[in-house]
Amino acid sequence: MDCIFCKIAKQEIPTKLIYEDDLVVAFNDIHPKAPHHILIIPRQHIATLNDLDNPNLGGHLLMVAKKLAAEIGIADAGYRLIINCNRNGGQEVFHLHLHLLGGRQLR
Ligand code: AMP
Ligand code: ZN
Repeated sequence: MDCIFCKIAKQEIPTKLIYEDDLVVAFNDIHPKAPHHILIIPRQHIATLNDLDNPNLGGHLLMVAKKLAAEIGIADAGYRLIINCNRNGGQEVFHLHLHLLGGRQLR
């Protein structure tokens, strides 16, 4: 399958990983919309949030996001998590990912 995020998760496209474990990996967004813009993705190819059926994996994505927010020092100031789903949601890469945005006042 020709999925860019699968290739990043497998490091077939070498990308610096900010975090990795058995279930997920995290890396910087190539077009950051804030001083911190991290993408957290499942290792498994899941196209959209509609296709997620594992509540443990969904919960884990959230737990990793808040852990990374604390580690990079933006937890107290605040941050935003976004999942875009399908066309009207503005999804461009069809491998489920959670955006973690912070480091400035988000409007
Ligand atoms: P979405 O609109 O939610 O599908 O967001 C896809 C995100 O992936 C965008 O913010 C892109 O900048 C980002 N992106 C696309 N290709 C790469 C890549 N190779 N490495 C890092 N981020 C990427
Ligand atoms: Zn994929």
